[in-house]
Amino acid sequence: MGKTVRIEERDIPVVRETDVIVVGGGLAGVAAAVAASRHGARVTLIEKSIVLGGLATLGHVCVYLPIDDGRGHKIYGGLAEELMRVCVRYSQDSIPEQWRDGPDTAPEDSPRYMSNFFIPPAVLALDEFVQQEGVDVVFDTVFSEPIMEGNTVKGIVVENKSGRTAYMAKVFVDASGDADLVYRAGAETETLKTIVSHWFHELDFDAMKKGIEEGDMLKAVPLRWLGLVPSGQAGDENMELTCDGTTSEGVNEYIRISRGLALDWLKKHQRPDYAMLTLPFMPQFRMTRRLIGKDELRYDGEYHIESSVGCVIASLDEPATVYEFPYEGLITDLLSNVLAAGRMVSAEGRGWAIMRFIPACVLTGQAAGTAAALAAKENCSLQELDVKELQRQLENDGVKLHRPKGTEGNVPARRRRGAAVPPECGPQINRFYVRTDDRDGIRQNQDIPDEHV
Ligand SMILES: Cc1cc2nc3c(=O)[nH]c(=O)nc-3n(C[C@H](O)[C@H](O)[C@H](O)COP(=O)(O)OP(=O)(O)OC[C@H]3O[C@@H](n4cnc5c(N)ncnc54)[C@H](O)[C@@H]3O)c2cc1C
Repeated sequence: MGKTVRIEERDIPVVRETDVIVVGGGLAGVAAAVAASRHGARVTLIEKSIVLGGLATLGHVCVYLPIDDGRGHKIYGGLAEELMRVCVRYSQDSIPEQWRDGPDTAPEDSPRYMSNFFIPPAVLALDEFVQQEGVDVVFDTVFSEPIMEGNTVKGIVVENKSGRTAYMAKVFVDASGDADLVYRAGAETETLKTIVSHWFHELDFDAMKKGIEEGDMLKAVPLRWLGLVPSGQAGDENMELTCDGTTSEGVNEYIRISRGLALDWLKKHQRPDYAMLTLPFMPQFRMTRRLIGKDELRYDGEYHIESSVGCVIASLDEPATVYEFPYEGLITDLLSNVLAAGRMVSAEGRGWAIMRFIPACVLTGQAAGTAAALAAKENCSLQELDVKELQRQLENDGVKLHRPKGTEGNVPARRRRGAAVPPECGPQINRFYVRTDDRDGIRQNQDIPDEHV
């Protein structure tokens, strides 16, 4: 250990005592907070930035990936479907007509049930949504450390403009994306480096013309993708252009590289008919740190899970393989009252990649929030929770616990030999690829046609 300094022990004010605290206001945290509130808990949501949505808004990932299996079966109901509708409440959307009214099934050849959205209207709609649902949101506040009593988290210490204060609760949901709470509370975790990407909105006369011709605002203002596209195969983390999102050094390196890409792009394209409109204000880390829970989602595992809290899909597969996520993937025996939600739940290898898609994050958020409210009400540990009761509540709230009829035959495309891996994106994204063997290539971007990506 390098040089250290001892900080004097002192009393800090307790700002609030409540039933459930959710750390992190990404879409998983929003879902957890709303679900807990709908089940009668008093909920406080702690968010370090000043907007809700996390990667989906701050990080410019404004592409809500499909919630159907690509063969006409809706897989996600509940909040995973509802939050898609919230994101597009005041925004243009790209929900296909066949899914417009949210049916359970649509013709087999229907386009995928997904949508792009614009970020500012989504941010405002999320604000309105959580207010209507009675969630108490505390922005501009960073969780820093848990207050422990044995294996129970009694409260959290946060930092904000008021200084260092504490929030106490019966049950906690860690939706920080990076497992900050579960890690600091002593749970086992796994970390992974992330490839560098940089998405932003841009505008030029060609895109505007296309948008006007097609009457489509989303096409008029396309997303630009700089940096690497995930291969979907293990090994991305060994590429040169990767950073560790769980350290300050890694985060700063990511920001430096990705912003360098953007500046480079801008210098090359700055002209009277071009405008770079936005930049992400959160580093676009895909997977950083996750809980090693009591159980986990396995890409090659069983399909039927008795303790399932909902179905998730390998969204980009056509048709999409449907998995069931175990309740035990949200908890660990090392902590009695903390659940994981979102891109940091317990899932191995490619299973982790499935769990980070937005609909899966929202699904685990809803499950974690509902479980937290039940545990707070029953005054029981998460290990003692009545999982059947949790499942009953989730089903009442529109979650599909087990694989819908007709989806059993969906073949896992990535398990097929030589199957092409579709790039991770929705429509209206222009891709720009940086070759990995071009380390200085951060400065030497080169366009590669879509078919090579
Ligand atoms: C480049 C890229 C492209 C992607 N493409 C797609 C796509 O096309 N479609 C798709 O569905 N998914 C995509 N994903 C994945 C998806 O965007 C994310 O996995 C998902 O949005 C994560 O949601 P979350 O709520 O779990 O976490 P996050 O969105 O990361 O939210 C975590 C929240 O916690 C807050 N927070 C963190 N630490 C603290 C702390 N200590 N104290 C207080 N608050 C804290 C953060 O500010 C943030 O608001 C992509 C991801 C990336 C990076």
